[in-house]
Amino acid sequence: MYGDTEIFLADRAFLSLLLSSVEVYKRECHGILLGFKTTRRIIVEYAIPFQTAERKFNEVIPNWKKELKVKTVLPNLVHLQILGGFHSHPQFGKKRGEAKLSSTDKSYLEEGNIEIVIAINDEKKTCPWAETGNGLAGTIGGYHIALAGFYKRAKDQKIANYRIVCPYAVGFDYALKK
Ligand SMILES: [Zn+2]
Repeated sequence: MYGDTEIFLADRAFLSLLLSSVEVYKRECHGILLGFKTTRRIIVEYAIPFQTAERKFNEVIPNWKKELKVKTVLPNLVHLQILGGFHSHPQFGKKRGEAKLSSTDKSYLEEGNIEIVIAINDEKKTCPWAETGNGLAGTIGGYHIALAGFYKRAKDQKIANYRIVCPYAVGFDYALKK
């Protein structure tokens, strides 16, 4: 079940999530989400992949978030704040990546932050981009990609699955044709 709040993905943030996960496949990508919050919406304006992290398959190295240089320059960027992060769960052999938090992911999710998990798997068929039961999914160039967004509440540390709204993604199939 979704929480009350929804995550709104700007088109450039959506593209960045897709391209980051495709670029390093079959390793994990990760990065931070920048934007702002309104009463019922968390608006993700940018998804910035973390470039210099050591990227090994299936190994979560979350401590880099604490050392991020962007955190020191961010106060100079008007109106944007760090909303949380993202990372991918790529297919490993026959085991398909899933768009949900692992127990390690859950323990590293900071309260008040969102985390978008990107499941990326090989896929021969094409499937139009649409909202699914827990997020957004579709295909791009031989990959099936599913996104799901999570938020850890400060008051009781509960993690909720938030709906991801991205009008651009839903029209994305048209954008891919010519
Ligand atoms: Zn994970």
